[in-house]
Amino acid sequence: MPFYIFGKNYICKQGKALICLYKWEIPGVKTTNKQQNNCMKTVDDFNFKGKQALIRVDFNVPLDKDLKVTDANRIEAAKPTIEKILEDGGSVVLMSHLGRPEGREEKFSLKHVVSKVAEVVGVEPKFVNDCIGDEVKAAADDLEPGEILLLENLRYHKEEKAGDEDFAKKLSELGDIYVNDAFGTAHRAHASTTVVAKFFEDKCFGYLLAKEIKSLDKVLHSKEKPVTAVLGGAKVSSKITVIENILDKIDNLIIGGGMTYTFILAKGGKIGNSLVEEDKQELALEILKKAEEKNVQVHLPVDSVIADSFSEEANTKIEKVDAIPDGWMGLDVGPDTLKNFEAVIKESKIILWNGPLGVFEMDKFSKGTIELGHAIANATKNGAFSLVGGGDSVAAVKKFGFEDKVSYVSTGGGAMLEMLEGKSLPGIAAISQ
Ligand code: AMP
Repeated sequence: MPFYIFGKNYICKQGKALICLYKWEIPGVKTTNKQQNNCMKTVDDFNFKGKQALIRVDFNVPLDKDLKVTDANRIEAAKPTIEKILEDGGSVVLMSHLGRPEGREEKFSLKHVVSKVAEVVGVEPKFVNDCIGDEVKAAADDLEPGEILLLENLRYHKEEKAGDEDFAKKLSELGDIYVNDAFGTAHRAHASTTVVAKFFEDKCFGYLLAKEIKSLDKVLHSKEKPVTAVLGGAKVSSKITVIENILDKIDNLIIGGGMTYTFILAKGGKIGNSLVEEDKQELALEILKKAEEKNVQVHLPVDSVIADSFSEEANTKIEKVDAIPDGWMGLDVGPDTLKNFEAVIKESKIILWNGPLGVFEMDKFSKGTIELGHAIANATKNGAFSLVGGGDSVAAVKKFGFEDKVSYVSTGGGAMLEMLEGKSLPGIAAISQ
């Protein structure tokens, strides 16, 4: 019977770790051992009975002026992992950052989220006023199975962001098994997200982080075809590394948003006063050439909703994307473009969407983004896998109510972009290696 040997300390037997049978390529994680790369430990690989889990969660939630949590999504996202550990008969120490405090700023205290955690998880967490120190250690040692301890904001200590080893070691003394369930900070080599892992023999991904990795893997290493990436948003320059990295993995590249006009200008079109990065024209042409070499079909807009000012009060009309008069700017894709894009999406089996197709914040220029959302939702209903990620596309999906109609909405903007760029995420590498 085959054994998969991964890492120095682990031998994972075929029968137990089903996860090994599902081939997970971890985007951006370079390791010398192929099997290791394919075996990701999750909380399902451990029985937490009598064990204490130290979980890095992302409770960086928005608070209103009365310091009440206004959006508990991130707490809800961590619930399955916490529940699994408690149901096993374990105890849980939760650590997170909140905002960007300069020292001990009261408004960034995690005590403001205690009641929301209690409401969401159904267990009132104990709270300590710090995340390291004797009092914290004593509170952690006193924890009984079924109980939760929430630590104070990690970023009250500058050692957290500095990835300080001593600080990480002190954190590591608060649990038996380290669980990382914070995708939003997985691209940071901070003490609690990365460095702390080295002090644990037993460490794994929480459900949320595992789902993020699995979803991205599905897009980047899909056997199903065609794979379509929709890249919109403002600038070519912020997406260039992503485009270069994914060209090998996709069949269609749909380009929309402000970056359209750099491509159109580079191809000799007239773009009026549309957003453009003049110095990126050569780069745009290079992308088009590379895409052709790799047999990737690039779908650029053919028409635009153009406006005589960047405002909701602007006069608007539809114009060919390469014939925009001076004084006018393209702020959304036009109807012919949408028809083309919809046809591509309809045929796609895997869809990645990053960046809106227009200035979706203004009603007048939101149609392209909304219609694309509909098309992706329909394709998903018909069996395609769709992943939406990266700041503004997530905001757009939420604003227009597509959140539950796509396969997965990534919770970590920066982390997801770095994974798409093919970079190694320290928080993921620390657990995989
Ligand atoms: P990004 O963060 O690069 O994904 O960019 C998102 C921003 O791009 C959003 O705020 C949109 O309003 C903006 N955007 C999308 N299309 C255009 C456009 N045609 N002209 C100017 N800005 C745009």
